[in-house]
Amino acid sequence: MTSRVVVCFLFLLLLRGTAAPASLQAQSAPFSVQTNELDDSRYPRQVTFRLAVDAETSTAASIAQATLHYDVSRASCLEAAAAVPVAVTGDSLAWTWEMVRSGNPPPGATVTWSWTLTDADGRSLTTPPQSHTFSDGRYTWQTVEADNLKLHWYEGNVGPGLLDAAVSGLDRLESDMGIQLQDDVNLFIYGSSEDMRDVVLYIQEWAGGVAFSDYNVILMGIPPSLAGTWGQDVVPHELAHLVVAQYGRSCVGGSRPNWLEEGLAVYAEGEPSPDIEADIKRGMADSAFEPLRSLNGAFSAHGPEAGIAYSQSYSTVAYLLETYGREPMQQLILTLAAGQSTDAALEAVYGFNVDGLEQEWRAHMGLPSRDIPPTPTAINPAAIPTIIPEGLPVSLPTPPAAAATAVPPATAPAANPGICNLGLVPLLLMGLIVFKRRRDWSKTGEH
Ligand SMILES: [Zn+2]
Repeated sequence: MTSRVVVCFLFLLLLRGTAAPASLQAQSAPFSVQTNELDDSRYPRQVTFRLAVDAETSTAASIAQATLHYDVSRASCLEAAAAVPVAVTGDSLAWTWEMVRSGNPPPGATVTWSWTLTDADGRSLTTPPQSHTFSDGRYTWQTVEADNLKLHWYEGNVGPGLLDAAVSGLDRLESDMGIQLQDDVNLFIYGSSEDMRDVVLYIQEWAGGVAFSDYNVILMGIPPSLAGTWGQDVVPHELAHLVVAQYGRSCVGGSRPNWLEEGLAVYAEGEPSPDIEADIKRGMADSAFEPLRSLNGAFSAHGPEAGIAYSQSYSTVAYLLETYGREPMQQLILTLAAGQSTDAALEAVYGFNVDGLEQEWRAHMGLPSRDIPPTPTAINPAAIPTIIPEGLPVSLPTPPAAAATAVPPATAPAANPGICNLGLVPLLLMGLIVFKRRRDWSKTGEH
């Protein structure tokens, strides 16, 4: 009993990273650990934890039982630490984490592990926690840093310029919305979307960028030739998704409507581009704007409608921010995170629902008001929390800069409104958002 208490105490001490006195360790831990390492040569498909004890030492015990504890640092509503019993076969132990089953944590994520070894007499030792940060060893990475931000790249000299774009985007989010980055972010800039996709299992073949908001990691494929143009928009856009996801993280299944999610991200890009202004002009001339309510869910991924949906979302969010200021916007995001429906959250903060917002925005734009049919009774599944499958990346794929046009729309998941729907977040906690419009794809065609 006493030794068990000591072991528990030791375990707590060790988990806190405090070195226990060697003599105390020796009494309760008759193992002589020779190697304790993580083999990541097959990452992202699998990694293997290996441990060996020295059986030659006269005082050393043989392992009777072994448990591996491991945990990947991430912001999560659920405790995701794993403890796996490992089969004992002599003095060397190995356990392989098959990421092809669970999905892989992205580069930049850190795993911490320890082993608990028990001998035939019930005495045990828990090894001090060790950490390993996953990295994509195929490339030689360079890094530039700003506050809370590390940007890594390997091709060309794109780092400093893209870091500037990221910092400008963060400044806009802070000054206009009062929303700050809460945890450090790692951005990995790949030379192409193909290079990027190779390090993420189960990523859509059209994806050009992925934001793992739980891990505070963004992976993007930005060819050096596009870093000064497309890259300047796409970096703050993706970063905005991550910052808003941090700020509005919900453990009760709350989610943001797509017009708000994408509108905020486009807003973070900066002054509206000529493409956005052209979309808005066309929307006004052709009465081509969608009912705002229909933009709660997925946008059309292709064609002119997609461009108008993003531009309309941007314009609506800009209207809210410029008319009512930043505090109500913060309240809206937090009220949605608390599990309120979009209508209820808007009512609570601004005093109108989605239709009311649309009518105000239309009046502001000089458009005639629209006949709005009675709102159907909302079915709000937001209060149902969802289990996160362990290791599953929370990802926001975006279409690539260069390869998008090569993907036949019929096979691209982007064409499936269910996949690109932010409404999937409460179901899977895996939001797939398409944000780049036709204008981006035609833009890339110019290069
Ligand atoms: Zn987006």
